[in-house]
Amino acid sequence: MAVTILDGKATAKAIREELQLEVQQWVNDGGPVPTLAAVLVGDDPASRVYVRNKERACQQAGMFSRLTHLPTDTSTAALLKLLDQLNADPAIHGILVQLPLPSQIDSQTVLDHVCPQKDVDAFAPENVGLLVQGRPRFLPCTPHGVLQLLHRYSIPTRGKHVVVVGRSDIVGKPMANMLVQRDCGLGPEYANATVTIGHSLTANLADITRQADILIAAVGRPRLITADMVRPGAVVIDVGINRVEDGLVGDVHYEEVAKVAAAITPVPGGVGPLTIAMLLRNTMLACRLQQA
Ligand code: NAD
Repeated sequence: MAVTILDGKATAKAIREELQLEVQQWVNDGGPVPTLAAVLVGDDPASRVYVRNKERACQQAGMFSRLTHLPTDTSTAALLKLLDQLNADPAIHGILVQLPLPSQIDSQTVLDHVCPQKDVDAFAPENVGLLVQGRPRFLPCTPHGVLQLLHRYSIPTRGKHVVVVGRSDIVGKPMANMLVQRDCGLGPEYANATVTIGHSLTANLADITRQADILIAAVGRPRLITADMVRPGAVVIDVGINRVEDGLVGDVHYEEVAKVAAAITPVPGGVGPLTIAMLLRNTMLACRLQQA
């Protein structure tokens, strides 16, 4: 059976077009232009590209973006002061602090300082707690992107065994938290999964991944998931983005796994574009909630 390539780029484009119409309607009805404040500290080339892409996507959707670029030697206190200003500014609806931050900065303290109502990355403890309790304010961008992709390709998760490899606060844990809910905004068909989380200390990882109907890799290890770790006919979602000598690769050995999977995301062009689209959606939502 031919494998289905889950095209994140095309899916994200469709979502961004829908959002553009929503923003237009909102502004025509007298709402303020949704505005995202991006904070970039230092000169990490990948972070600069990510922030530039997010700014461009905002503009294309009819939103404003405001970038504050601080030097590498910025202190935690200086960053907290900037966040105080952005938190208090009624013209800013969403705040994004680009990670990773330089090592002298206490990243957790900084992320905890973003006002939960403007926390469009959904990293704040209050927003994480609301998600775990099944009443999310904002859905975390990358896991939400994965669910949107499954939804738009009509791959339900209800009753399926989903194995998530990776337990980070940004991808693995929120992904698992969304999948076990009764409904996470996309209807019960796209929730209600039986979820297993694998991580760096999981024994016999391949035995676990082979049980997955849907396998989601969010590890950051190039081509970790090989064909022998995948049940024939499984759906494989590759969140990983790893820079290697021959370019960007995911956490999945794409060429091998595409021969056994029923559906697979490519890297690049899979989950990555959806993350940005979901960030824009959260910015629109933040704007709505702040006007309510
Ligand atoms: P992280 O380093 O915070 O977490 C990695 C997780 O993988 C950890 O929980 C660890 O326990 C687990 N792990 C490490 N080695 C393992 C192994 N050998 N076997 C099993 N588990 C192992 O990373 P993250 O922020 O979750 O990101 C993961 C990957 O996803 C990275 O490649 C990152 O670049 C990518 N990413 C992509 C997007 C996107 O938009 N597509 C967004 C965020 C992260």
